[in-house]
Amino acid sequence: MNTFEEMGLDPKILDAIKDLGFETPTPIQAKAIPYLLNSDKDLIALAQTGTGKTAAFSLPILQQIDLGSKKTQTLILSPTRELALQIAKDVKNYSKNLKNLRVTVVYGGANIVSQMKELERGSQFVVGTPGRMLDLLRRKKLKVNNITNLVLDEADEMLSMGFKDDLETILAETPASRRTLLFSATMPKEILSIANNYMREREEISSGKRNIAAENVNHVYYMVQARNRYDALKRIADVNPDIYGIVFCRTRRETKEVAEKLMNDGYNADALHGDLSQAQRDYVMNRFRTRNLQILVATDVAARGLDVKELSHIINYNLPDDKEVYIHRSGRTGRAGKKGTSAVIIHSRETNKLREIEKKAGKKFEQKQVPTGKEICEKQLFNLIDRVEKVQVNKEEIESFLEVIYKKLSWLSREELIQHFVSVEFNRFLSYYQNAPDLNINVGTQRKREDRRKATNFSRFFINLGSKNGLNPAQLITIINKQTQLHHADIGGIDIMKKFSFFEFDKKYERELLKAFKNVQVDGIDVIVDKSKKEPKAERFGARFGQKKRNKRQRGNKRF
Ligand code: AMP
Repeated sequence: MNTFEEMGLDPKILDAIKDLGFETPTPIQAKAIPYLLNSDKDLIALAQTGTGKTAAFSLPILQQIDLGSKKTQTLILSPTRELALQIAKDVKNYSKNLKNLRVTVVYGGANIVSQMKELERGSQFVVGTPGRMLDLLRRKKLKVNNITNLVLDEADEMLSMGFKDDLETILAETPASRRTLLFSATMPKEILSIANNYMREREEISSGKRNIAAENVNHVYYMVQARNRYDALKRIADVNPDIYGIVFCRTRRETKEVAEKLMNDGYNADALHGDLSQAQRDYVMNRFRTRNLQILVATDVAARGLDVKELSHIINYNLPDDKEVYIHRSGRTGRAGKKGTSAVIIHSRETNKLREIEKKAGKKFEQKQVPTGKEICEKQLFNLIDRVEKVQVNKEEIESFLEVIYKKLSWLSREELIQHFVSVEFNRFLSYYQNAPDLNINVGTQRKREDRRKATNFSRFFINLGSKNGLNPAQLITIINKQTQLHHADIGGIDIMKKFSFFEFDKKYERELLKAFKNVQVDGIDVIVDKSKKEPKAERFGARFGQKKRNKRQRGNKRF
């Protein structure tokens, strides 16, 4: 079916979705809506975020609700409070012309009394998280004996969040005559077992790859040394001054670290992860939704249900282990007809993983070069000029100061004046990026680096300083440089442990190195450097770089 009209939707619903700008049904809507309007069988839909799945299940359900009764007829189960709120908001929009329709949203971490009161008033459509629904069911405030439609949204996510038992209890409590709709981005075995145990005759549909998100998303990757990941992220942000995006990290710890670094470096960024209280999460999400925050650094779970339409970028700080997760993440940009970029920062050993994702998503990743300092400066400069040109000038507010200002700047010519204004903002980029190294790894350079490494014969050394002493690879290199003055010797892999560390050093200069570290003190500690008993591993991954790069790296590390 090509149009919503042809599907037989109520004109009141058609008017409401027209107001939202829905012109043509998305693929999942084209399949699900006519089926749900014309059959009372169950449905399993393989659908990701951004496919238009909320309207796919809620439009036909809304049309079938008996508005003459206040009894609860529809339950929508969602993994997170944010997604539940989003669904409720969408449903309220779709049903704005349906008189007497009540939508209630229930979730944990909020006052249960007001939710109970709302339910007591009567609500045909209830959206919520499984735990709170079950609680309300047990308190006999949520009555499910008249349920005709039950939707499990993001079912895979509900299972991975540990809601399996709650779901099964709710499914068992609702009438067997109900219709069950199950939406999930993936179909693990556990989902199929729920379907087999609790669903009746059913149709299985898929949104396919033609998901409205994927169509508009440009998938790109940047290849850098693992240790340059953060610097690459900064450059991506710097070359996109109007960036509005999410940086996905793998762990809470990484999320916190990256967000803190960005904030310290002067970016408009914040973190969203499971260690925050609900109030803190709401605060961050609100700032992000209202665009008071440009960069949100988040874990996958914490960002669930955060529906923001006009994201310019999704940045995968690390590739997720699960390919589906990448598809989920990238589906958050390129929405509502807008173009978006999903960028991945990888190191050279992750290309296979990237190829697997390419296969799964049916999309090709384009390798992009991490911008050079010059490119960033140019972009920032023109962005600044653009802002100067377009800024709203509040003449009245500044009028009283102008006379003094004109006088003070009167010795400058027009050209000089422009140069001065531009420099105020621009100098920080210029000085930061002046000697910035190239962060890209291209296949050629990577090979050369590996060849050089293979050609160098390393010995492995122990040093009695570790992270507890505040040591990191860059500092260790500084210490080695300072003591040995052997600027042409290569340093190989570095392993920083808590109380000690290991590093590889050019075998030819073994004696010189050991001699250079005799009677050396660092921060009052007598330093011991000794040859390690273990031989260096040929392909160990770690901070590994040649002498020539050392000085550059240390310069590039400076913050604004
Ligand atoms: P969902 O997959 O339900 O989270 O929807 C993703 C986004 O697409 C939401 O912002 C919807 O408002 C929007 N959307 C859903 N259906 C359509 C449609 N037919 N045309 C345009 N936008 C839509």
